[in-house]
Amino acid sequence: MSNTEQTLSIIKPDAVERNLENEIKEMFKNNGFSILKEKKIKIEKSEAEKFYKVHETKPFYNDLCEYLSSGPIVVMTLEKENAILGNRDLMGATNPKDAKEGTIRKKYGISIDKNSVHGSDSPENAKIEIDFFFKD
Ligand code: UDP
Ligand code: MG
Repeated sequence: MSNTEQTLSIIKPDAVERNLENEIKEMFKNNGFSILKEKKIKIEKSEAEKFYKVHETKPFYNDLCEYLSSGPIVVMTLEKENAILGNRDLMGATNPKDAKEGTIRKKYGISIDKNSVHGSDSPENAKIEIDFFFKD
């Protein structure tokens, strides 16, 4: 049975700053993802805190929210068969040091905090995260 899904992807400040936006979008397209919606924005720290609320008890939460709001980001809705897991696979491990060859984080990630991309981790969160940025 087919299972077309949408997932939220973010090209994070470290990658936008290095002008990697087009190269990363090419990786999505070459892996069969359609970019349905996209916008380049800069968010406030308070918005980053809402977006990453699931991590609010983690020691890295404050730095993470500072970082996501530190410069322009590109937010996109990606669509493909099994897009959520497919995007997680294409992104690679959270820590670029552990990411496999051929993944975005292996290729472009600098460190565990500057790891170039975000991707939704479940159908529930994909819906919440797409609505967060694209609800009309
Ligand atoms: N992060 C961090 N330090 C850590 C773990 C995570 O700075 O020890 C950051 C990292 O940028 C990561 C984000 O917090 O992408 C969200 O963490 P999560 O565990 O959800 O990783 P992801 O889903 O992005 O792979
Ligand atoms: Mg996550």
